[in-house]
Amino acid sequence: MSEVKQEKGTSLKDLGLKELDLQDIEMGDMLYEGKAKKMFRTKDEKQLVVVYKDDATAFNGEKKGTIMGKGQVNCEMSALLFRYLEASGIPTHLIASLTPGQMLVKAVTILPVEVIVRNIATGSLSKRLGAEEGKVLPHPILEFCYKNDALGDPLVNDDHITALGWATKEQLAVIRTMALRVNELLQPVMLKAGLRLVDFKLEFGLYGGEVILADEISPDTCRLWDTTTGKKLDKDRFRQDLGQVEEAYEEVLKRLRQAVVVER
Ligand code: 5GP
Repeated sequence: MSEVKQEKGTSLKDLGLKELDLQDIEMGDMLYEGKAKKMFRTKDEKQLVVVYKDDATAFNGEKKGTIMGKGQVNCEMSALLFRYLEASGIPTHLIASLTPGQMLVKAVTILPVEVIVRNIATGSLSKRLGAEEGKVLPHPILEFCYKNDALGDPLVNDDHITALGWATKEQLAVIRTMALRVNELLQPVMLKAGLRLVDFKLEFGLYGGEVILADEISPDTCRLWDTTTGKKLDKDRFRQDLGQVEEAYEEVLKRLRQAVVVER
């Protein structure tokens, strides 16, 4: 059994989560391996261990590489932000941080919809619709993509989602409200860390019939620009071969450790 310890300074009790004997958590068979994470079963079928990987991919898997230390950075950053969001009323899949790069999560059924929130025009929005790069949007844009690598995660609308059975109308309404609330909650924290939250992707899952926030929130899934210099501090450094990729991920985590205060 790998050593499992609770992250320093966090109390599951304080967060209103079920107290766990973390020493009891044993990783079972691997359930699934994705591009950035592996999921393992535990003795409790309602809980999984997520192991974050250093592997990096872009352009629907066409570009492959390694970002050293990314797994640990993305895991810690996600845990930090999930705890903050949870304390602010957003239900998430996080149960506890384990050893660096690993977290214990609720075994959700992931909805096959990627939810993208944009505050500043760039990326595929500029490419597809010609929106001026760097333009601050008057209000956030919410987009949905069908999570399907073979089809290249195509953009879809509400009717596709409900008619093709990926989520019900009610679930979609919850997702929309939650995604916009996550944006409202993350923006000030990022600003405090000297980062502009340009855009980000969220994934949601069903747990006991409820929609909860799942997956991760990290420089892999967010665009983050330094407020002073405009420097890109996210996966675009890998996508666009800008160099200093590891440094950017570590810088974001360092700043967020200071900026995120989880009220208990
Ligand atoms: P865009 O549509 O401009 O390429 O991406 C918008 C935002 O969503 C960016 O922050 C990007 O990192 C994130 N995003 C969109 N699709 C994916 C995806 O399949 N994987 C990851 N990691 N992030 C994505």
